Amino acid sequence: MQKITSSEQKTFEFAKTFAKRLKGGEVLCLIGDLGAGKTAFTKGLASGLDVKNIITSPTFVLMKVYSVHHDAIKKLAHIDAYRINSGEDLEAIGIDDYFNDKNCVTVIEWADRVKEIWPKNVTKINFKILEGDKRKVTVT
Ligand code: ADP
Ligand code: MG
Repeated sequence: MQKITSSEQKTFEFAKTFAKRLKGGEVLCLIGDLGAGKTAFTKGLASGLDVKNIITSPTFVLMKVYSVHHDAIKKLAHIDAYRINSGEDLEAIGIDDYFNDKNCVTVIEWADRVKEIWPKNVTKINFKILEGDKRKVTVT
């Protein structure tokens, strides 16, 4: 699936719609340069999953976990791997428990930096900066 968005709001809305397809247990690996829209997408996901808290980039903690108001999905785990040197840091905080939790959706920004700890069957979401405010979002 591929979508070209023309604003931050459009990326947010795309993610909000995408969130409706989630059933729980998914690990979403977000890949793309700084400013490509990974956090904007995560905010849209959170909105689509009916997260009440405000999503901020987890810059000073490895992961933030949000409560979700949804039939099957109870938690959204948001990881920003930008400053993580190794996936071991995530293993140390028990990331596998989140990966294996059918009631949790896990989102990893800068996921390519911790590829060694990806579980099987991740959903890869690539963000490419095009001219101006255009971004190409590719889900595979
Ligand atoms: P990342 O998390 O990938 O570093 P952010 O989502 O934090 O990126 O920031 C994206 C930046 O790019 C924001 O400043 C936003 O306003 C801007 N922007 C411009 N066009 C878009 C678009 N189509 N989708 C998402 N963000 C966009
Ligand atoms: Mg970000």
